[in-house]
Amino acid sequence: MKGLMQDHPLTLVHLFDRAERLFPAKRITTATADGRARATYGEWAERSRRLGGVLGDLGISGDGRVATFGWNTGRHLELYFAAPCSGRVLHTLNIRLFPEQLTYVANHAEDEVVFVDRSLAALMWPLLDTFETVRHVVVMDDGKGEVPEAPAGKEVHDYEALLQAASPVDWHVDDESQAASMCYTSGTTGNPKGVVYSHRSTFLHTMGVMTADAIGVSERDTILPVVPMFHANAWGLAHAAVAAGSNLVMPGPDLSPPALAGLIESERVTLAAGVPTIWMGVLPELKGRDTSCLRAIPCGGSAVPKALSEAYREQIGMPILQAWGMTETSPVATTGHIKSTVAEGRTEEELADVRASIGLPLLGVELRVVDPDTLEPVPADGATSGELQAAGPWIAREYYNDPRSPESFTSDGWLRTGDVATVDGDGYLRIVDRTKDVVKSGGEWISTVELENEIMAHPKVAEAAVIGVHHPKWQERPLACVVVKPGEELSRDEVLSFLDGRIAKWWMPDDVVFIDEVPKTSVGKFSKKTLRDRFRDHVLPTAAGG
Ligand code: ADP
Repeated sequence: MKGLMQDHPLTLVHLFDRAERLFPAKRITTATADGRARATYGEWAERSRRLGGVLGDLGISGDGRVATFGWNTGRHLELYFAAPCSGRVLHTLNIRLFPEQLTYVANHAEDEVVFVDRSLAALMWPLLDTFETVRHVVVMDDGKGEVPEAPAGKEVHDYEALLQAASPVDWHVDDESQAASMCYTSGTTGNPKGVVYSHRSTFLHTMGVMTADAIGVSERDTILPVVPMFHANAWGLAHAAVAAGSNLVMPGPDLSPPALAGLIESERVTLAAGVPTIWMGVLPELKGRDTSCLRAIPCGGSAVPKALSEAYREQIGMPILQAWGMTETSPVATTGHIKSTVAEGRTEEELADVRASIGLPLLGVELRVVDPDTLEPVPADGATSGELQAAGPWIAREYYNDPRSPESFTSDGWLRTGDVATVDGDGYLRIVDRTKDVVKSGGEWISTVELENEIMAHPKVAEAAVIGVHHPKWQERPLACVVVKPGEELSRDEVLSFLDGRIAKWWMPDDVVFIDEVPKTSVGKFSKKTLRDRFRDHVLPTAAGG
């Protein structure tokens, strides 16, 4: 017997209509070069409908790709909805990609128009010639930067002028499986890979993010998405804010710790999300400020050091909420809420350890930890590691137009995340490493993430990255690359004796080198590949004599 409910399409039009109708007085605040620009959802909705008109006036195809090259702003939120709700596909270009990667993705996606913040025009202009399908460039004036001459073959427009001249349009999206937006993953080798989100997947991801035990978003929230709208969908928070009618605070281009701390205090932010490096910088700036409104700090994108979460708990009374995800998983797939049955009878120190996990999968997301070759699940003992694989309504099933897809998906359709994880009896997942970063010592694996976590707990350490270096007997052994806090001194022996007793003896790094900073990828993650290249010939003291 079949259910008798309507087959109603899940589209972003519903989210938009809801905010327009129910929350027109709620606010979208954007930090600008000279203050704060304020708009209501009512104004945003009217402008977004005009923007739909602009896309028609510019002759963008019915399902054309609309690229953005912008910071988190109110205008970017207009594009976030006007493109998909008019049937087109929003393509958020990651401003941190390398130039040749940007050229590749704009051509691969066949972008027809690029909307660029004026403050980023100088970065984008040298590439415009290489964007073969782009006919229009629309500059969003954010008060800073120069707009160079229009390159041949491209028409350059002013966003506000286009909006003024356009008429508002009605939205029509009937098919929930239609593409709504796309992002490219940066990767460390090869060209970026395109991930295409449908209306349905975005709708369901939004609802997943909004559930209380995920990030939990309500109408009473004021959300500061520090995590960029140009990478991994601002973790669904831009969509969730619209769906819930939450106030939004958009940080614009200034992501400096004082600017962010100032926004949190003055705009009475309740929920602020960003990567670990952001929260490392912001913490000292929160000293002496009123942070009483803050109720959650979701953080992910790379491992959240336990010491960082604990420092927040000590200073502002609230630990960080760890989340895990990838561009391919929309991105939010797990969050670190602690089950009441797990919390019972545990000390804060023990709970801090649970918070260092990536938590539990969101409702709707299937995760498994398996042997990557046989796809057999590893024991749920919190110790045996395997590859983390994902499936679900907001998990990619292939890359856009890319022959590399088969490498990343299993024969039964699961995404191979490339992350090595463990799972315990309560279902808590821990990221041990990236498959390519784990140190393979004599057939056993050493988690560089865990070693880094322990080293970064040292009060004199600013940053630390661990890499595997060739060893004649063990194949690979760990080398700790440590950045010392300014004004502090630290020796190799101090690092090693600090680790003594905190880690298994055979995990002890064979050597410690001190570096000025950990090299980062284009999107700010530790670039272990660069470190591996740099220390490829490093001779470990333990290597002598095999
Ligand atoms: P890229 O930066 O290459 O575009 P993503 O932003 O999609 O890719 O990065 C996804 C990867 O980031 C994950 O596969 C994982 O390795 C890492 N990551 C994300 N969240 C966490 C976390 N909480 N702990 C550890 N690693 C994480």
